[in-house]
Amino acid sequence: MVNDNTIYEDLGVKPAINAAGTKTTFSGPLIREEAADAMRAAANSSVQIDELQAQASELIRETTGAEAGLVTTGASSGLTLAAAACIAGNDPAIMQAIPNVEDEPNEILMPRVCRNPYDRMLKGAGAEIIDIGSSSQNFGMTPTNLEPWELEAEITEDTVAVSYLPRPNTHISLTMLVEVAHDNDVPVIVDAAGSLPPAENLSRFFELGADLVAFCGGKGIRGPQTTGFLAGRRELVQSAALQQLDMGEIEETWEPPAELIDKDSLSGIPRNGIGRGFKVGKEELVGFIYALKIFVEEDEEKRRAEWFARCRQIRDGLSEVPGLTVTVVDKSNDIPDDIKVRSDALPSVRITIDDSITGINTRAIVKRFREENPRILVKSTGIADNEISMTPFSISDEQAEYIVDCLLSYID
Ligand SMILES: *Cc1c(COP(=O)(O)O)cnc(C)c1O
Repeated sequence: MVNDNTIYEDLGVKPAINAAGTKTTFSGPLIREEAADAMRAAANSSVQIDELQAQASELIRETTGAEAGLVTTGASSGLTLAAAACIAGNDPAIMQAIPNVEDEPNEILMPRVCRNPYDRMLKGAGAEIIDIGSSSQNFGMTPTNLEPWELEAEITEDTVAVSYLPRPNTHISLTMLVEVAHDNDVPVIVDAAGSLPPAENLSRFFELGADLVAFCGGKGIRGPQTTGFLAGRRELVQSAALQQLDMGEIEETWEPPAELIDKDSLSGIPRNGIGRGFKVGKEELVGFIYALKIFVEEDEEKRRAEWFARCRQIRDGLSEVPGLTVTVVDKSNDIPDDIKVRSDALPSVRITIDDSITGINTRAIVKRFREENPRILVKSTGIADNEISMTPFSISDEQAEYIVDCLLSYID
């Protein structure tokens, strides 16, 4: 019935090569083979999910230095659960009330320059996001976009967390943010979904004092597309776990794994929390565990060397074509002083097109790419500047060659 080689054709769907790196709508990078095999094997037996989550927590603890971890359906639900944990703590009544918590402390402070399309996930738990700071550094007016006193002044009794997104252009020190927040007993949530690789960032945010960090399992780690994890302080991860698990239990029979959930710390058993809608199945959990193990064992330099080789392969294949300017873009050594976090470690190929010479413009190329069989998927952003960007992350040398050949055939 199931044919490994033709499954998409059998379903009437054209297979594709994702040349846009981790992009979700292009189904992300390919899952590691070992992780896919592990998922297949995991399907052979039932388990108690919290026991499996506790094992994942142990692995996350070892690899990140955080106290505990929870596998989530992507970093997005990790953020919703982070907000839910900061709002509810151990209180089953608040867990039950989420997302209708306007009358409870529910405010998450977030620097304006960190606001991004994913921060709405925090709102999913009933949090209200309060913008703080400015963007005046970006205008060259101030040395930072958030002064410690600005943050201090915004923290009130309604504040449950401060949220942060590491980007090279935020010009806000995470260390400062953590210091002020902790002085006021407020936890700091970091969205690190886009920060892997490098693997060093698995522990970086905890070294800098973050309390809860959401990571993506389906991007740089190359685990199942639908996975991610939330790691951090034990009691907050416990709260997130309680709000994700399906809790139809009675006191006498409920024996949650002590590493993840301290039953004695609870006044009662919470029921279905906000995270019930994004449960993680055993196959995804197991696939994620294997992918994370391999990701941390891999040699970072070797991994990077392979990506660069593939980028150069595409660049060299197109270098003689009149009208194309092709460069390999590497931002991995940008470590802004104020955030001290290495980011954007995936190299990309930037192709600038002079359509008066090539006779075909960027829009047409992106469309032609998508009509191929297999399709070639590249982002349609950057088109306005006559640019096509490719991140050849989990593609083979043969596929890179195919991309080059296709592009050459449009120009000839
Ligand atoms: C990709 C991304 C997310 C979402 O991660 P998923 O695991 O796909 O849910 C959130 N925040 C940032 C900054 C991202 O890059």
